[in-house]
Amino acid sequence: MKTVILALLSFSLFVMPGLSQPDTGAMVNRIFKEALTHQVAFENLRGLTGKCPGRISGTPAAAAAVEYTRQLLEALNPDTVWLQVVEVPHWIRGRQEKGMILSAKFGQMKVPVTALGTTPGTGPEGISAPVIEVSSPDEIRELGKTKIEGKIVFFNRPMDPELFNTFAAYGRAAGQRTRGPAIAARYGAVAAVVRSLTTRLDDIPHTGVSHFDEMEKKIPAVAVSTLGAEKLHRILRNDPDTRFYMFTGCRNAAPVKSFNVVGEIRGTTFPEQIITVGGHLDAWDTGEGAHDDGAGCVQAIEMIRIFRKLGIRPKHTIRAVMFMDEEIAQSGGKVYAAEALRKGEKHVLAMESDRGGFLPRGFGIGASDPELFSQFMSLKPYFSPWGINEFARGGGGTDIGPLRQQGTILISLVPDPQRYFDVHHSAADVFEAVNPRELELGAAAITSLIWLADQMDFSGQTK
Ligand SMILES: [Zn+2]
Repeated sequence: MKTVILALLSFSLFVMPGLSQPDTGAMVNRIFKEALTHQVAFENLRGLTGKCPGRISGTPAAAAAVEYTRQLLEALNPDTVWLQVVEVPHWIRGRQEKGMILSAKFGQMKVPVTALGTTPGTGPEGISAPVIEVSSPDEIRELGKTKIEGKIVFFNRPMDPELFNTFAAYGRAAGQRTRGPAIAARYGAVAAVVRSLTTRLDDIPHTGVSHFDEMEKKIPAVAVSTLGAEKLHRILRNDPDTRFYMFTGCRNAAPVKSFNVVGEIRGTTFPEQIITVGGHLDAWDTGEGAHDDGAGCVQAIEMIRIFRKLGIRPKHTIRAVMFMDEEIAQSGGKVYAAEALRKGEKHVLAMESDRGGFLPRGFGIGASDPELFSQFMSLKPYFSPWGINEFARGGGGTDIGPLRQQGTILISLVPDPQRYFDVHHSAADVFEAVNPRELELGAAAITSLIWLADQMDFSGQTK
């Protein structure tokens, strides 16, 4: 009996106002079929990755990506397309990096390395110094200046393979890359080598940002491939006098004027209430930024296309936003939220896709209002036929995160997480690594959820 009542209750929740439940389901199915049949997002991703690979902020490739996605949006003829000015950092990689293990006992061995974003170059001669291995920035504090000074600190913490959620494993290990070099510098290290953040054992190094505060000393730092890290670890154990040689040719240039790209369909009933869907346009220069985050960009554009193609006039104002500079300073997301506040724009909902163009499994829903949260949870039956079943509490993302303080509901698309860190921030993040159906299913999932959310009443939330 109890189950019957619960079933009836959940039934009454997910029927959209003015629509029968079968009609609502039929509309979701139309959206999925449109995305899967035409594969436009996939073709747009081919264009973005082919024309603008290596589009880290401040580069000509990033500027080309702004223009390319602006044109894609213009061609869909939404109500407005505009560029929002963002000042972004400009870090230049320079000449190809070199890394070498130097052991009197075992000889010289080249290992694949890639410079970390914002770090300075080594100078033309490179740096050669004794190596000290640690598993965390905390260990540096324990070892103290006498053990660290004049050395190259080797951070060798692997991502925990026991966790199902690779993003959690990444989060636990990422501090050695984001802050490790700055902390090592504080204790007198001359450079840093960081184990690549991937669960794969291979010879592809994975880059990423390394943060130094304005007053902190900057030292050169590279990521080494996981096989390279294993090798260095083994050799150090058998020859503690091992040295490491590295060359990086990078430098920081003056900030550059860049843009977020925005396409908007104006709402018919609540035009002042905005729903934003986005991904980030910049990507590490080591690859093509196909999964990270070309996928999120073309999925947001696909949402606009499907709304237009199916003749949907949304009740709320719907935007697709390509955020600039997520990777280094997150300036696009910050400027977007600050501009919303300045203009008095009310964002009722924001959604981000920045976990790769992999098979969608569900959504993370960050709605604090219990009624709205349960409305989102009750949408699950519309997605189950498409294999999307995981609706969980808690959503957000780097680019939409700054909107949280305005009370915006934040939602993340959650694809399968097992392969993302195989490619993340590396030369393996290329168009060929994306499966068209998985990418399109993600685009359809986003579009469907936004269409369903557009039927909801956020007026309680906007008071
Ligand atoms: Zn990303």
